[in-house]
Amino acid sequence: MPAKNDIIKNTQCFVLDMDGTIYLGDRLFDFTTEFLSTVERCGKEYVFYTNNSSKNADAYISKLKNMGIAVTADKMLISNQVIIQYMLSNYAKKSVYIVGTRYLIDDFKAAGIKVADGRDADMVVLGFDTTLTYEKLCIACDMVRDGKKILGVNPDLNCPTDGGFIPDCGSMAALIESSTGVRPEFFGKPSKHTLEYVKQCTGKREESITFIGDRLYTDIAIAEGTTAHSILVLTGESSLSDVEQGGYHPDAICGSLAEITDILKDIYKL
Ligand SMILES: [Mg+2]
Repeated sequence: MPAKNDIIKNTQCFVLDMDGTIYLGDRLFDFTTEFLSTVERCGKEYVFYTNNSSKNADAYISKLKNMGIAVTADKMLISNQVIIQYMLSNYAKKSVYIVGTRYLIDDFKAAGIKVADGRDADMVVLGFDTTLTYEKLCIACDMVRDGKKILGVNPDLNCPTDGGFIPDCGSMAALIESSTGVRPEFFGKPSKHTLEYVKQCTGKREESITFIGDRLYTDIAIAEGTTAHSILVLTGESSLSDVEQGGYHPDAICGSLAEITDILKDIYKL
């Protein structure tokens, strides 16, 4: 395994998780702005990537702007667009019933995908639906029992909020799986679809991409078995004891983005 400094030095693009990595809820970490400017001063790039399909890229661009971070659309990646690209490549003519928020539905419509109102649709797409109802669940389960394909936007079981965890898309999928016996294919981190999307958006080679995040089964798992790298930061969900339990193997572990800033400054004599 290359040393932490070598991974950071050889990275051309850092793919930053958001919650637990650059901020917690609505509070920007005090080291994030300096990290971003240091990455730029070193001639490297960064993009933000979130699995959170209850919102869309525009909503996150606004959130970052309110925190004092100006970000252009090409640097704000989200799981919604990963599944939309897949749909356009593989099921462009199919209609979808979306169990999701208006943000997700708007993204599908904006991409030209036909969004149908219920059981007549060809497929089901399940997102992190903070507007979930029992009726939507019943329609989705009926469609799956009728043999229609179901795709999940992101596999996260829980979403961290200021008030604690709330059930995310993976937990909703587990309910549908319990009822129907069918588990959807997922598209956000850690899927290979997301890695391909990141490569396409950044134009970088896989081995020069480093994912930074606070969660093992998404942010770190995405790099496993690939030539991309992963750095776990300990400012969110996962702790060192989680790492010691095995299962996922970050290429490096840093206390926070501040440690990566220090390493960059050291390497590039800033
Ligand atoms: Mg996170």
